[in-house]
Amino acid sequence: MLKTVTFSPAQTRKFGEVLAKQILKTKQKKKPFVIGLIGDLGGGKTTFLQGFAKGLGIRERILSPTFLILKKFKIPNKKIIHWFYHIDCCRIKNPKEILALGFKEIVKDSQNIVAIEWADRIQKILPKDTLILEFKFFDRNKRKIEMFST
Ligand code: ADP
Ligand code: MG
Repeated sequence: MLKTVTFSPAQTRKFGEVLAKQILKTKQKKKPFVIGLIGDLGGGKTTFLQGFAKGLGIRERILSPTFLILKKFKIPNKKIIHWFYHIDCCRIKNPKEILALGFKEIVKDSQNIVAIEWADRIQKILPKDTLILEFKFFDRNKRKIEMFST
């Protein structure tokens, strides 16, 4: 298991950016990459994904979806990886709501990098090799991030 502690939102964004660049470099062509974010509200999941999207070369801002559950972004200048999906399950009560949005197809498509906030809410339907990042709130600016594979 890998873990890190960050002391500012900028550090958490940077961690996301570095991880995204690494994934772009090492991702297997024939497999999608799915990352699940779990842990405390305000733990930094969305903040992390802002840096992660930057690392993928995406310029649009990543927001905490209020009404939105799923947003799709184009990953520029890539031959094989084309899309980044930001899925936020904070409002999900039943995994069926996500399935209705085409979840199965999205996490099966090798062109995709998919990040799922509150992934534990849809545990039953998560792909089995999802990379899990758990965010823990310590104090105003301190967060712990632990990374493990399901
Ligand atoms: P989540 O998506 O997990 O609910 P957010 O990323 O939306 O959390 O919110 C995290 C909040 O905490 C933001 O307001 C951010 O600026 C603040 N923050 C303070 N310190 C950190 C840190 N070390 N890492 C990430 N966010 C931090
Ligand atoms: Mg969030």
